[in-house]
Amino acid sequence: MKLELSRVLQGGGRLGVLKGLGRTGQHSLEVPGCLLYTRCGTVPHLTHDTLHSLDKLPSVTQVTLDHLAEHQEVLEEFKEGFKKFSGLHDTVLFCSLHDPATSSPTGYTTSKTVSVWASGGRVELTAAKFMALQKLVRPDCYVSMADGETWQDNTSRKRVRKSVERTLAHLDECLLVHQASQELEGAALFGSVEGGDVMEERARSARETAKRPVAGFCLDGLQSGRLDGALRSQLIGAVVKELPEHKPRLVQGVGRPDEVMECVEAGVDLFEGFFPFLVTERGCALSFRFDTANDPESADGAPTSENTAEQNGDHHPDDPSCMTPFEMDLKDKRYRDDFRPLVEGCGCYCCRNHKRAYVHHLLATNELLAGVLLTLHNTAHYLTFFAALREALAADKVDLLKRAESEPCSGKAAQHAFLPRQISHCIMLESS
Ligand SMILES: [Zn+2]
Repeated sequence: MKLELSRVLQGGGRLGVLKGLGRTGQHSLEVPGCLLYTRCGTVPHLTHDTLHSLDKLPSVTQVTLDHLAEHQEVLEEFKEGFKKFSGLHDTVLFCSLHDPATSSPTGYTTSKTVSVWASGGRVELTAAKFMALQKLVRPDCYVSMADGETWQDNTSRKRVRKSVERTLAHLDECLLVHQASQELEGAALFGSVEGGDVMEERARSARETAKRPVAGFCLDGLQSGRLDGALRSQLIGAVVKELPEHKPRLVQGVGRPDEVMECVEAGVDLFEGFFPFLVTERGCALSFRFDTANDPESADGAPTSENTAEQNGDHHPDDPSCMTPFEMDLKDKRYRDDFRPLVEGCGCYCCRNHKRAYVHHLLATNELLAGVLLTLHNTAHYLTFFAALREALAADKVDLLKRAESEPCSGKAAQHAFLPRQISHCIMLESS
């Protein structure tokens, strides 16, 4: 696995391609980019056929141990790894510990174990059991076992230090098994960077992890809603200073477009692609705009719709289950007779074939098709957002933005004033 960077912005934003992915090294992934979010190897609501009606799917598929741990015996019997078991073919399998779309109970880590929560309850993992599971799953990439419980309020420095130390000890134990394992030969192991909100502990965790032979880094404990954005950026800044340039950095639990951009600006390359799933589950459709300033006409004159801003004025950034300003609520009665596609100009199956009114009807009558159509659109929209983000980085529009920043705040500008500096011109909320 090798990260080839084509551009690094002054603030830290990186553009490039992650090459040589997978055991045979035939896959690549553009960064900044996201993984394909799944539950047990399946994108929720979609069969492989419907999924592949989408263009430009990420070449890396994420699975999490909390969904797999209770099926250990089945995988033992099957013997051929999880990719084959779940019918995944031409993809890179990335395995991490926790499902980013679900919050699990805390307070169950010890110096020797971490716990994951499966449908049947708690599964306690030692490093040995964790590695035994990885040998059965046989991922192409996986994240080392980590104690990431440092994001609760009032976490003491002592507890944060302990999480850093335990995570390094877990990593050393995992590396020993990894290097001796035939099943995991050619697989890439990512180290987990902890440290809560303590700057020195973050830096120490990054520095110590970087000394180990890991293929990449997972920035843990920086989840949405648990940290102020500016603090998260500072913590990421302290971490990336200690990390080598040529290894990828993935941040866990961050998916909102504005937060994604903040993290990219701070030097993060990869994200877990769970955000479209959360939006789908609340019956919403992603509708934010991300025209690049290359095309000022479409930025000003594109069709707009009377949704988001005023409707979501009271969103709660702390609760991941709440609507964000990036989506429209299709359960709302206003869409009952709205015969436009979800997003004008979107090329996804849903927008090409169906109207907002139809999706509203499917939601109102609790039809499963609503989830299918919304997943198709939300995934397509989110992937296009990442493509636009890469375009903005490639075009290096920093100057243009500085100009925009110095202009007085009009009502429209205030609406997306929470977006970060350098690349905020490429993303806009729909407004009437
Ligand atoms: Zn669409």
